[in-house]
Amino acid sequence: MSSSLRMMEMTWPEIEEAIHHNRILIFCVGTIEQHGPHLPLGVDEYLPMAIAERIANQVHGIVAPCMTYGYKSLLRSGGGPHFKGSIGIRGVTLIEVVKDIIEQFISQGWRRIVVLDWHLENVPFVYEGIDEAVKSEGQVDGLKILRIDNPNGLGVSSDPELEKFLFGTDFPGWAVEHAAIWETSAMMAAHPDLVHDSRIVDGQPPQPFDYDVFPVPEDAAPESGVFWKATLASREKGERILAAVTKGIVNVIRTEFPV
Ligand code: ZN
Ligand code: MN
Repeated sequence: MSSSLRMMEMTWPEIEEAIHHNRILIFCVGTIEQHGPHLPLGVDEYLPMAIAERIANQVHGIVAPCMTYGYKSLLRSGGGPHFKGSIGIRGVTLIEVVKDIIEQFISQGWRRIVVLDWHLENVPFVYEGIDEAVKSEGQVDGLKILRIDNPNGLGVSSDPELEKFLFGTDFPGWAVEHAAIWETSAMMAAHPDLVHDSRIVDGQPPQPFDYDVFPVPEDAAPESGVFWKATLASREKGERILAAVTKGIVNVIRTEFPV
């Protein structure tokens, strides 16, 4: 019998058994988005899934397949949809997809669900999808869903010493952490085979950075798609990021789903 924690590798009787034992289900929402010349388009799926598997190992959870498509990339947080390969869906579509999936989790009997949203632009739509699913299912005994969209807040910002180790003294803020130190380091730890070390470059935040302009000016994004100093990334930083984020989320899960 398989001992996988990945839903896609399990059989239906194994899932029935998992539901019967009230195991925790982890559902990641990512997107397909440019992450500079050195990282793959799938970063926002690869990283949450790597962390979800670490979490599942610790809390004996099950990892659902990721929602790979997310809300469209925005200039100020991901460079914008004009980068080739960045493929997004509309907010209304994302709400409906998340709602459909969560409704089925609930109706099949899952009662302890963790939604890990990895793409900043998804946040209000994933929230709305969960909210609508919970309302449409009505009163369900024992149901609790956790929605987590701030892994840095849980795992890194709460540890000033780690933040200093990762970013040094010239950290310009989380808003410019796209394809830069944090994501590059985490990918070096989680999927080193998918990082093109020789193509790592530093970049600049898009301008303007504090307001939006329509039509979206494509030349406002850094040409490389990197917003900050990716050259300061390292595998050691990545290992510490993955460990800290996993610990932060596991702490939340143990608090909210006591055994
Ligand atoms: Zn990303
Ligand atoms: Mn993203």
